[in-house]
Amino acid sequence: MVSLRSARCQIRNRSFDSAALVRSLEKRAEDVACVHVKIIGAVTKNQEGKELAELGDMIQAGAVAFSDDGHFDPTAKVLLNAYDYLHTFDKVIINHDEESSLVEEGVMNESHRSAMLGLKGRPTVAEDIAVARDVLLAEYAGARVHVAHISSARAVDIVRQAKKRGVRVTAEATPQHMTMTDECVNLFDTSTKINPPLRSQADCEAILAGLKDGTIDAIVTDHSPHAQEEKDREYVYAPSGFPGLETSLGIMLTDLYHKDKLDLPLIISKMTWEPAKGSWSGRRYTGSGRERPMSRLSIRNSTGRSMRRNSTRRAATHRL
Ligand SMILES: [Zn+2]
Repeated sequence: MVSLRSARCQIRNRSFDSAALVRSLEKRAEDVACVHVKIIGAVTKNQEGKELAELGDMIQAGAVAFSDDGHFDPTAKVLLNAYDYLHTFDKVIINHDEESSLVEEGVMNESHRSAMLGLKGRPTVAEDIAVARDVLLAEYAGARVHVAHISSARAVDIVRQAKKRGVRVTAEATPQHMTMTDECVNLFDTSTKINPPLRSQADCEAILAGLKDGTIDAIVTDHSPHAQEEKDREYVYAPSGFPGLETSLGIMLTDLYHKDKLDLPLIISKMTWEPAKGSWSGRRYTGSGRERPMSRLSIRNSTGRSMRRNSTRRAATHRL
């Protein structure tokens, strides 16, 4: 299943902030998509954070969740109104959490490395206070919130503590934020420019811990398919993000499973049925009937032998 966030879809520069747009994209997906596509509508008109979009109409049209991803909604009052409204429909808001005033013009994590490279940084505290605000607002409204592409250790702990209090919060993380640090950033490789930025090793470790203890519910790609000519620019001018759909599983297996940092059932569950079973995905799989999606994953070790035959790694072949 693929969910298209309003700011991260193949139709660029378009906010899905009306029922008509949701219907048109659903129709397009029905006609041409070979996977399940669910639409995530914008929270605010044109994703400007000022005025709520047509939330109710978009739900009627088929939107399963709402997000202004790519933008931080700056006004707490507007976001609280959205939580209040969507709470009645039991719909979740997915937030891109970086406090705007702290990340303006920043192109990488604020750290020793950014100072060395002379690049303006995006500090972890920008994410921390944004996650804290959005979780507290959701808690106040009794609403559901999903933290997109979490990347800082403090933010992971804020979600962990909120879950312990019973707040209806879920979170996701990307393979790149688990396996790469800001030490990978160099001025000649714009693929390392992403938002939120690559952080420190301690942040990577915190995300892995969050996956293991259930704080983080899903592994996602934050797929941002920029054309090569767009990325082939000076670091500060290149757009953020890169395609992740094709490489996400390979990275998880190569850098985490084969290095004994995460086990295979956890990786598979966080990439498939755990996010799919959540009602934020808009689809519930019962495990029976024609709706059940199924694929087969075979993993081979460096000798080419099926891992299924390796008694120390039993669950090598999984039916998803
Ligand atoms: Zn985002």
